[in-house]
Formats: sequence, C-alpha cells, structure tokens
Amino acid sequence: MAYITLNKNHFFNNLTIIAKLTKAKDKIALVLKDNAYGHGLFEIATLAKEYGITKAVVRSNEEAKEIENLFEYILVLADTPKEASQKIRYTINDIRQIQKFAKNTKVELKVDTGMCRNGIMMDELEEAFILCAQQGLQLEAVFTHHSSADEDNRYFDLQNENFKRVKQDSQVLAKKYSFIPLRFHSFNSAALFRSNDFDEDMARVGIAAYGCLELPSSLHVKNLQPVLSVYAQRLSSRRLQKGECVGYGAAFETAVTCNVSNYDFGYGDGFLRSCSHHYITPEGIKIAGRISMDNSSFLTNKEKLLIFDDARVIAKFADTISYEILTALKEKIKREVLH
Ligand SMILES: *Cc1c(COP(=O)(O)O)cnc(C)c1O
Repeated sequence: MAYITLNKNHFFNNLTIIAKLTKAKDKIALVLKDNAYGHGLFEIATLAKEYGITKAVVRSNEEAKEIENLFEYILVLADTPKEASQKIRYTINDIRQIQKFAKNTKVELKVDTGMCRNGIMMDELEEAFILCAQQGLQLEAVFTHHSSADEDNRYFDLQNENFKRVKQDSQVLAKKYSFIPLRFHSFNSAALFRSNDFDEDMARVGIAAYGCLELPSSLHVKNLQPVLSVYAQRLSSRRLQKGECVGYGAAFETAVTCNVSNYDFGYGDGFLRSCSHHYITPEGIKIAGRISMDNSSFLTNKEKLLIFDDARVIAKFADTISYEILTALKEKIKREVLH
C-alpha cells in the first residue's frame, strides 16, 4: 500500500525556526485543521506535544475532541460547542452567531479587517462586545486573518493598519464590558516570516510548520524543511516496445522500448489527476499517461517509488498550491513517523 512518512527532525527544525520568530514556544498556536494539512491529526499533535507546543487551532469540534488531552488551549475556527470545555475556545464568525452560544462559553471574536470573508464588521465591534456581555460569554481574544500575507500587494499593510485600530478600540471596550485580559492575534505563517516585529499574544502557524511555506522572492523564507513524503508500491511491471500505449485513453505512447510499472497511488488516494502526463518525481522518474483512481504508471521498475517529498514542487505540476496537494491526501493512507 502507498504510505506517508513524516520526518520528525524536519518538523522540530521548523518549529524551532518558528519559535525564534514568536520568541516563545507557547506563542505558537499550531494549525491542525484538515487532518493537520493531510499529515495526520493525531500523529502531528503527538509530535507537537513532545516538542512542547501547548496551543492548537482546528476547524471542528470533532478535531478538537480528538486532541483535547494533548494541548492546554484549542481554538475551533468554525463550529459550535456540544458541551462546555475549559480548553476549547470557539470563533465568532458573524455577529448573528453570538446569541447561539451557551452562557460561559469561551469565545474569540474574529474581525473582518479587509478579507471580506469571515468575522464581524469593524463597525460592529462595540455591538459584539455588548452581545457577548449580555449572553454571559467569556470573550478572551479578538483576532483577524490576512488575505494577502503571502503576496506582494497593499492588502497586508492595509489590514495591519485596520487591526491596529481594532486592538486600540478593543482595549477600551474590554475595560468597559469587563473582558480583561483580552488577547490579540493576526499572524499566519506568511505574516510571521515577512515581518520582524511579532508582538502579539500568539501566531496561528500552519504551512510553515509543515515546511511548505512559499513567499514571493522579494519576501523572506528561512530554512524550512518539508515534513511529509509519499511513497507508492509497485503492483506490476512490463517491458513495452516502441509505439505501445499505457493506461486510460491510451494517452501515453512509448517513444522507445522501456520499462513501465504501475503503482498503488491514484486520484482516489489524493494524487491530483492534473499531474497526469507531465509529472516527474524528485528522483527524475516520469509519469506515463493518465492517473487512474487507484493507480498511476511510471517509467521505471522500482519496487518502492517516492511520489513526492516537497508539496510545493508537485503543486507547480498541478497548477495549484501546496495546501491543496497536502489536504487531498486521504486519511486511509498509513502515516509513519521517522525518528
Ligand atoms: C488556516 C489558517 C491559518 C494558518 O495559515 P497558514 O498559512 O497555513 O499559516 C491561520 N489562521 C486561520 C484563521 C486559518 O484559517
């Protein structure tokens, strides 16, 4: 069966680089949504705990429950609580959502500073504080998310300016409505790596921890190392004459006599079909034709084939981003931690 390896040394190396930027391990909130970016929620959460990470960010209640014992603090980005929890905080994504939380729920208020996706409007700030107070919620933090931290456009600075004002206003409102101490956070991976002046209560770091952060060349990325590799096993091999065709649609025709083998990793496992025809592995082995549901063919006889070890590289072949390559990897694939 195809399998995934997780390089513990690379992961710890990345966390050490990140901790230098946040100036403390406990200011890292490791983003573990979507099966820890396809790496395996439990595997990565366990390693993170071993390293000394105390905070995690997930999408759902279900994810939070799975790792509740491993962290001191968990932020849920898009779900509502089933039962009260001391560790789990819930995100307010819309002002109309506030009245749906039960009394005493720990909440964090997301403010839209220019991404125009989730969060309350900036001019709803006081109303949100009032509603949280009326509802008896424990409002612990105000945060925002960047649309363009990894791009060279004006939005990053614009949102930073906006969030600065939100912070000032929130400090005043926190006193008025008794939500002290109030914490603040806005940095994702790209924001952390492009600025040298991190001064918030935590940074929500995903892709950098997995070693696949990409920034335009004008911005700076340090020595991050990809954590995840995918290997596939050979199912069969054949020697083909010039002019024979491989796979669905007979889409690949051999130009010379060659060895072709079929491997147990296809689009049903998360191998994006747009990698068909032109993908070349890190070892320089070419794909032959279309990717099938459970299989893909390559011009080699190798027993075990490294499919990729840097999601940024294969993402270029698929005309996408490393995030999609990683989260496409199905949960059923075995994850093995290399020590
Ligand atoms: C996914 C996510 C992050 C992490 O982003 P990276 O680019 O992977 O560091 C941070 N904050 C929020 C709100 C997110 O949804």
